[in-house]
Amino acid sequence: AKADGRHTARFFDPGMQAAADRQAALETALRGGLAAHQFVLYCQPQFNRQGSLVGAEALVRWRREGGELVGPAEFIGLAEASGLIGPLGQHVLDAGCRALARWQGDPVLGRLKLAVNVSAHQLRSAAFARQVDEILAQTGAPPQKLCLELTESVFAEDAAGIIARMHALRARGIGFSLDDFGTGFSSLSYLKRFPLTALKIDRSFVHDVHIDPDAGPIVEAIIALARTLKLDIVAEGVEHEAQRSFLIEGGCSTFQGYLLGMPVPIEEFEHLYSAHGLG
Ligand code: C2E
Ligand code: CA
Ligand code: CA
Ligand code: CA
Repeated sequence: AKADGRHTARFFDPGMQAAADRQAALETALRGGLAAHQFVLYCQPQFNRQGSLVGAEALVRWRREGGELVGPAEFIGLAEASGLIGPLGQHVLDAGCRALARWQGDPVLGRLKLAVNVSAHQLRSAAFARQVDEILAQTGAPPQKLCLELTESVFAEDAAGIIARMHALRARGIGFSLDDFGTGFSSLSYLKRFPLTALKIDRSFVHDVHIDPDAGPIVEAIIALARTLKLDIVAEGVEHEAQRSFLIEGGCSTFQGYLLGMPVPIEEFEHLYSAHGLG
């Protein structure tokens, strides 16, 4: 019993206990928030080289009781660790597809693609393709307007299963964008093996593209690579005109960032951009 005592003492470390309590409380709150429909979509616009609106990215926010707005950085990690990312991801996809269906009657919104972030946990589930099919059928969203954004972490396990699921969804017309490109441990062979339709240059590269003598050429090389592979290329985090001009010069096709539009609640997005005053 004495030998075990040390382990017991470590288990009851008050700091660790407090952190575990906070984690458990947040998990309970997340679960309750999901049941109470507190997770809402914000949309950030995306523009082409000519400056026309061509799409949007759906970004989830947690609107807690009392109105506090919590960003995904605060809860996506725990949602993944606790398995809640499954139902949360379904909710986001469902809300995104309902929006795509709603937009079809509008001359501006009806042309937009909507990018929805998908976590590796979601794509690793064998049921994922069927779940997406069900949501498409229930909402009536046009699949060729839906783009799923995934990160390199998706490719770490079960590549064969993931590739099969991606091909099944590609066959419906759904696109796949590789998010945060350049930040992971990415092997360029991913670009050949996985059926992607777009690359998204991480905002850390976009940030000093116009000032850092290394960032510029890296971005130019990424754009050239994407063009060779016939992938769309989206720059995120565009905050300054100088960044946009550099990216235009380099051949980038799509632009997203505070310079062009902030993420706003989806109803506001619809109000801002629809031709008919939807929303
Ligand atoms: P991300 O996919 O890289 O999304 C872009 C993030 O950059 C968003 O942060 C957006 O608000 C922010 N951003 C947009 N333009 C600019 C800019 O010009 N400058 C700067 N500095 N930032 C900009 P947000 O909304 O806080 O989302 C953070 C991350 O949370 C996302 O990064 C994404 O990885 C994750 N996320 C968001 N929604 C979802 C979701 O529905 N499901 C999953 N699995 N992850 C999500
Ligand atoms: Ca994203
Ligand atoms: Ca990103
Ligand atoms: Ca990023």
